[in-house]
Amino acid sequence: MRIGIIGAGLSGLATAFYLRRLAPQTELVVYEADARAGGTMRTHVVGGMRFEAGANGFLTNKPDCLQLVRDCGLGERLLPAADAMRTRYVYHDRLHRLPASPGDFLASGLLTWPEKLRALCEPFVSAAPAERDETVREFGDRRLGAAVSRIFLDALCIGIYGASPDQLSMRAAFPLVAALEREHGSLLKGMLARRRTAGPRGVLTSLHGGLGELSARLAETAGVEWRWSTTVRNVDRASEGLVVSDDSGPTSFDRVIVCTPAYAAVDLLRDLDRELSQLLAEIEYTPIAVVGLGYRAVQSAAVPATPRHDGFGVLTTSASRTPILGVVWESSVFPGRAPPGQRCVRVMIGGQRNPELVEQADAGLVATARAGLRQVLGEDPDPETVFVQRWPRGIPCYGRGHLARIAAIDARLAQWPRLHLNGNAYRGVAMNDCVRNSRELAARLAAATTGEGT
Ligand SMILES: Cc1cc2nc3c(=O)[nH]c(=O)nc-3n(C[C@H](O)[C@H](O)[C@H](O)COP(=O)(O)OP(=O)(O)OC[C@H]3O[C@@H](n4cnc5c(N)ncnc54)[C@H](O)[C@@H]3O)c2cc1C
Repeated sequence: MRIGIIGAGLSGLATAFYLRRLAPQTELVVYEADARAGGTMRTHVVGGMRFEAGANGFLTNKPDCLQLVRDCGLGERLLPAADAMRTRYVYHDRLHRLPASPGDFLASGLLTWPEKLRALCEPFVSAAPAERDETVREFGDRRLGAAVSRIFLDALCIGIYGASPDQLSMRAAFPLVAALEREHGSLLKGMLARRRTAGPRGVLTSLHGGLGELSARLAETAGVEWRWSTTVRNVDRASEGLVVSDDSGPTSFDRVIVCTPAYAAVDLLRDLDRELSQLLAEIEYTPIAVVGLGYRAVQSAAVPATPRHDGFGVLTTSASRTPILGVVWESSVFPGRAPPGQRCVRVMIGGQRNPELVEQADAGLVATARAGLRQVLGEDPDPETVFVQRWPRGIPCYGRGHLARIAAIDARLAQWPRLHLNGNAYRGVAMNDCVRNSRELAARLAAATTGEGT
């Protein structure tokens, strides 16, 4: 049994890793357009600072990434975030600490008393029909009131997807929260019920060398033929199985797993199944840019040195009209990201709020980041080190209709039992989702290959 995997981001890497373990008899070939592994998950060291180009960590309230890191022998390299990271801020009319408890919520200046009372009426709001595909804004307005949507949900959608609550489907983007309403009739009742059964809250976790360390280790998985710097052009049918064509020509496989972003799969699969390709083209992506700034020992708001600014960072709301989406105080979250006495931050820019800003040249992005820091934190010291990463199609947007589209994609795939799609475009963008989906796919294929023989 020969299996071809296209794309060596986290999804392709984890699929290859688990296939190697669960189906050791298979021949595996991984194609990657880039010269290095990891897709958006990569770490850059600049001026002694360690900057993540994409994700900066995974949460341990789900077991998937933690298990993968241990399975590939990097357990001792795990780096949990400092406790201070639980303190988060939101910039709306000014900087506010995000409430972390019901008492904080009541004391917070983010909402007026009528707005707080409206939110507290949440348990008495009736549930929407299960089939209604609401946006996050519609869901929030209905259950918690417009002010909560405008501030908290707006910041949350930006923080996770770089997207607007007007664009994201509640059921697709936040399935666990939507399920609270469906199963308990109310978010509050659902959270109280889950608290009785759930384990401890997750801790944001990375590795000492950054997440690039995980990419690099997975790319060393033995027994896999790694083909770097090769862009797959096409997947088509063969007399038996499928043929993958790259610049070096066609190669036949019994099964092919496409782990590229959906927009790349559109081109790969056009000749094989035009309808499937068109469905994939409907999945939209949000542009995002990451600007890393490193500072020598200075005391400033952008460089958290005072207790007030010691924490995870700041998310901004659309109403705040800041040019940045948020700031993560990286060396406060993961001490060691900067040399002793120095600090580094990452500033997120663009998203659905200001997509055009991502197109700026490096100098423009750095200027935007610094203008944002001045507005949000009131200070902008000169950085010693600068890092810029642009992702013109960074994060898939699970818009209204996403779940119906995935069902239609699955129906098309049923015609092609030897073809599989895996990646963050379909069933979750978080690293834990990518790893879970990859492990489950590998397990299904391992079971199937045993049945089919090798
Ligand atoms: C800025 C940013 C911040 C994030 N922050 C977090 C976070 O803090 N926590 C978290 O859990 N998640 C976060 N995420 C999401 C998470 O990192 C991603 O969902 C996940 O890494 C996606 O992995 P993937 O393999 O599915 O896709 P990708 O990383 O996009 O990998 C796809 C791979 O396919 C390759 N490819 C494409 N076309 C071809 C072709 N034709 N031939 C060969 N190869 C091809 C690409 O080069 C790429 O390597 C973040 C994402 C971004 C962009």
